[in-house]
Amino acid sequence: MQVVWFKRDLRVRDHRPLREAAARGPTLCLFVYEPVHLTSPEFETAHIVFANECLRELDEQLGRLGTRLTIRRGSVPEVFSQLDRELRPAGGIAGIWSHEETGLRWSYDRDLRVAEWCRERDVPFQEYPCNGVVRRLGTRDGWASRWQRRIARPPLKTPEGIAPVDLERFEHGRILQPRELDLPPSDRNGVQRGGIAIAHETLASFLSQRGVNYRADMSTPNEGWDGCSRLSPYLAWGSMSMREAYHATRKRVATLGQESGEDPRWRDSLKSFEGRLRWHCHFMQKLETEPDIEFHNMNRAFDGLREDEFDESKFAAWCDGTTGYPMVDACMRAVRTTGWLNFRMRAMLVSFSSYQLWLHWRRPARFLAQQFVDFEPGIHFSQFQMQSGVTGINTVRIYSPRKQQIDHDPDGIFVRRWVPELEGVPDKYLIEPHRMPVDVQEQSGCRIGSDYPKPIVDHAKAYRAAKERIWSKKGSSDARKAAGDVFERHGSRRRTFARSRRR
Ligand SMILES: Cc1cc2nc3c(=O)[nH]c(=O)nc-3n(C[C@H](O)[C@H](O)[C@H](O)COP(=O)(O)OP(=O)(O)OC[C@H]3O[C@@H](n4cnc5c(N)ncnc54)[C@H](O)[C@@H]3O)c2cc1C
Repeated sequence: MQVVWFKRDLRVRDHRPLREAAARGPTLCLFVYEPVHLTSPEFETAHIVFANECLRELDEQLGRLGTRLTIRRGSVPEVFSQLDRELRPAGGIAGIWSHEETGLRWSYDRDLRVAEWCRERDVPFQEYPCNGVVRRLGTRDGWASRWQRRIARPPLKTPEGIAPVDLERFEHGRILQPRELDLPPSDRNGVQRGGIAIAHETLASFLSQRGVNYRADMSTPNEGWDGCSRLSPYLAWGSMSMREAYHATRKRVATLGQESGEDPRWRDSLKSFEGRLRWHCHFMQKLETEPDIEFHNMNRAFDGLREDEFDESKFAAWCDGTTGYPMVDACMRAVRTTGWLNFRMRAMLVSFSSYQLWLHWRRPARFLAQQFVDFEPGIHFSQFQMQSGVTGINTVRIYSPRKQQIDHDPDGIFVRRWVPELEGVPDKYLIEPHRMPVDVQEQSGCRIGSDYPKPIVDHAKAYRAAKERIWSKKGSSDARKAAGDVFERHGSRRRTFARSRRR
């Protein structure tokens, strides 16, 4: 009996472990609810609600192939031991097939335990790459062309059929609801629905309609809601593979210029989108290469910069969306409800916590990991470190919430929607409500200090102090020296490549 172990690859197409196992005979398709995952600090109920929706469709699709999903709960090696006993009448487990996962420390440790379990029992354990991330990468040089070669291969076809477990009284198990997993209920609203068909519908509507103004829409939290692809949770849970996304995009690019009256914005939009698909793996590669960046600064010369100054009350205000900065508060409340935010607003939230509030990135990263339904560890931790300026190889960007509001929510639509206390505040004061005269506060029904907080920090002062501290550290000889090593391990070579070609 072959076992395909599904993790964050909840699909049947472009799934090499499934194809390889199915070609060898009866195959059990397994998903495990793992307590170590459900209790990890980055986890939130909404993650498993989304995964369950994907699992439901995965089970249906497996049903059409002649089998069904087996679902268990427990530590994975123990689940394998149990299954091996249950499958004894059919000869036990003959091999385990899965995709490589670039995950957090708990998943890495669990994979090691699974490998050990297999070694002890002489059970072959075969893992395949899941996307463009390269395991045991020697050098970053040439990474982009490796990505290109790997992703350019056509997606694998769905197996034509799968021989099922054929044992009497074998319990497949079922999808478990959050309360059955001892999780609190999710009271989110407007979260994307999980699944395989919906992943493909989402990409199709982006490539045919929604994506036309992607280059501009991606920056604003209003237009970005529809104007971004919204593919992230599907890629994170693997209900669509990176190769499927890339090939659908290439197919669409090939149609450009064929229709008269085509909107000229499509060309740039699709080019930007394709670039971001590569970024997905580029950022994940950093965690794959250096799993410690879940815990430590990529550039260790930045150690000690913020750790001892963590202000709990500022952190609490940031998490609650009560900092007194309307754009920051609106973004935080939006993501806590819907599980999604566009890139620029994610970056602004992190910049605000790292610079204006001077909070070390680790706890904010865990908090936002819980909020993002698309939580992807490799992207998340790499982006967090980059946005808080501790890599030493990226430009330091300190966002001004005021400027972001002027540029990306000039009419206050987003802010009024997510910070209803500010609904009646006149446009003139929406960026800095604390400047409202008392009579305007009365008229607008928003008293500063009771209905909506005063700013918890003075932006100008905090900005100046942060800029000075980060630049002085970045310019120090130890940070510059360490930056060379960081670049060697993680830096994108594309710009260097372009520059050397221009020269
Ligand atoms: C602090 C911070 C944390 C983040 N955490 C995550 C995360 O946990 N999971 C996640 O998928 N993305 C994360 N991102 C990247 C980005 O914000 C999201 O991928 C994007 O907003 C998802 O929406 P979309 O699918 O509509 O993106 P689109 O703009 O339509 O992009 C398409 C796909 O490209 C990839 N992509 C886009 N932008 C980036 C980027 N800057 N870096 C890497 N890949 C990118 C994603 O897979 C995305 O789904 C983070 C960004 C920041 C600043």
